[in-house]
Order: sequence, then structure tokens, then C-alpha cells
Amino acid sequence: MTISEIQNTALNNECVNTSSSLDNLTNIIDIAMKNQHFSMVYQPLFSMQNSKLIGFEALIRCRSPQFGCISPDKFIPHAEESGQIVELGGWIFQQVLLDLKRFLQYGLKDIVVSINVSAVQIANTDIFNQIMTLVNKLKIPTRCIKLELTETALIQNPKVIAKVFNAFQKEGIQIWVDDFGTGFASLSLLREFKVNGLKIDKSFVDGIVTCNDDFTLCSAIVAMAQRLGMHIVAEGIEDEEQLQILNQLGCDTAQGYLLGRPASFEDNLQRWR
Ligand code: C2E
Ligand code: CA
Ligand code: CA
Ligand code: CA
Repeated sequence: MTISEIQNTALNNECVNTSSSLDNLTNIIDIAMKNQHFSMVYQPLFSMQNSKLIGFEALIRCRSPQFGCISPDKFIPHAEESGQIVELGGWIFQQVLLDLKRFLQYGLKDIVVSINVSAVQIANTDIFNQIMTLVNKLKIPTRCIKLELTETALIQNPKVIAKVFNAFQKEGIQIWVDDFGTGFASLSLLREFKVNGLKIDKSFVDGIVTCNDDFTLCSAIVAMAQRLGMHIVAEGIEDEEQLQILNQLGCDTAQGYLLGRPASFEDNLQRWR
């Protein structure tokens, strides 16, 4: 990695792993859980209409003293496969809901925090009771919580997943589809599940200025979401032009480095209070 790549990585609160010796990720994750090498960062989301802060997406980070930063794109899929996501996911819920409680206490009223959930968590845990127990204990309004699932996660166990979604939505917790458009079942998915909103994947946003097809796909996704009464977030917005186009198309929420990078709870509190 060059110095400028390392600086960029630090700036984005991202973890690009510099070590090639991650063969034993199961062990590394176990050690990281025991020694508190995991932490959560929060990336802000904004209203397209009035540029106000709407809330945050919670993103996990792993800093191992031995291996340095490990990207969630590496260890989350591994934890899903090994089953460690069950314990790790429980920790994520607890940490994020504690932070959400503190955001609310410090005066960030009406924010919504999104939590990424893996399909394995839905299949193997009583995720509904796990979250509702914390919500009740911490007295957090359920309207402040959003769960994000990827399309691939959704096709794995549709019956169970639909039941769990229903239970959450009855309690006022929103369900969103992440990385919309990248899976193979995007449309049939929307027939099968009642979801509150979609996140247009960054890969479409990347090409929206320069690629006609990406522009067409984005505008079709937004139009469809609107007709179905769903909200829509565009993620990975990195420049003004992308933001303007997505705004004109009718996207309601914006997320990306242009507007705010993932940052610690403390940094966000200082900035947005
Ligand atoms: P995701 O859910 O699609 O999250 C968005 C990713 O895009 C994050 O990467 C975020 O830092 C990055 N990002 C946001 N805006 C921009 C931008 O303008 N430009 C660029 N280049 N990137 C941007 P991150 O934090 O590395 O997370 C990667 C993936 O790991 C996530 O993708 C999600 O699938 C997974 N993940 C992260 N945290 C969690 C978690 O707490 N639980 C679960 N189950 N998965 C997680
Ligand atoms: Ca996400
Ligand atoms: Ca995403
Ligand atoms: Ca993703």
C-alpha cells in the first residue's frame, strides 16, 4: 500500500487489510471477540429534500494488534459461514442500541439507526426477542431502528424471514433491502416481502453520471419504489453531480463520502449534536 492509500483508508475509517496471513479467520474472530478488538462506527444519512441529518448506518470495524485492520467484507462472510455471526451479531445489537440510546439522550432527536443483519442471524437466533429485549430494557422508540438485509440474505429462507419481518414491522421497526439490484431476485423479492425501503447499490450510483444504462436503471428503481410506496436511499455518493441527479430522480435519502464518512460515536456526537 502506498502512503496515500494508507492515509485515505484512515480518513474513511475503513479497514483495508494489509496482512496476507488471515488463513485462520475463525481464530482471529474468536480472539477479537474476547479482547474487544471490534468496534462500531456510524455513517450519517441525509434528507435529499432539506439536507438534514436523518440518522446513521452502523458499520463494524476490527482492529487486531497482530493483524491490523480487517475489513468487514472479509470477516463478516467468514463469520456467517462459521456461525460466529450469531455471537458477533448479538454484540452488534447491544453496542448499537446502547449508542443509539446515548445519541438520543444527548439530544439527537428523531434519528434512525440502521443495523446490518445477516440471514444466518434470522435463521439461527431468535433475533426478534434479542432486539425487543434490548429495546424494552433501554426504552428506545422502535421508530428509531432500521434493519438492513441484502437480497442474497433474503432468498435463503423466505418463509421464516417473512414471519420475522412481520413481527418487527408490527412493532414499528423498519426493514430495508440493502444493495438493491445486485442480486438475482430483486423483483420477485418485492412481491414476497413487505419492506419499507430500498438502498440503491453503490455500483449503480458509481455509473449514474457516465453510464446511460446505470442512469436508466437508477431512475427505474426510484420510480418503482415510489409507486410501491417505499423509501429509497442512494448509497456511495462521492460527488455533487451524482447527488444532484439522484435528487432529481426523487431519491429521498443520501449516503456517501461526499456527505459524511463513517466515524466513531464520539466524533459523530461532537459533529451533529
Ligand atoms: P454495506 O452494508 O453495503 O455498507 C456500505 C459500505 O460502503 C461500507 O463499507 C461503507 O463504509 C462504504 N461506503 C459508504 N459510503 C461510501 C462512499 O461514498 N464510497 C465508498 N467507496 N464506500 C462507501 P464497510 O464499512 O467496509 O462495510 C462493508 C460491508 O460489510 C457492508 O456493506 C456490510 O455488508 C458488511 N458489514 C459492515 N458492518 C456490518 C455489521 O455490523 N453487520 C453485518 N452483518 N455486516 C456488516
Ligand atoms: Ca448496509
Ligand atoms: Ca449497501
Ligand atoms: Ca454491500
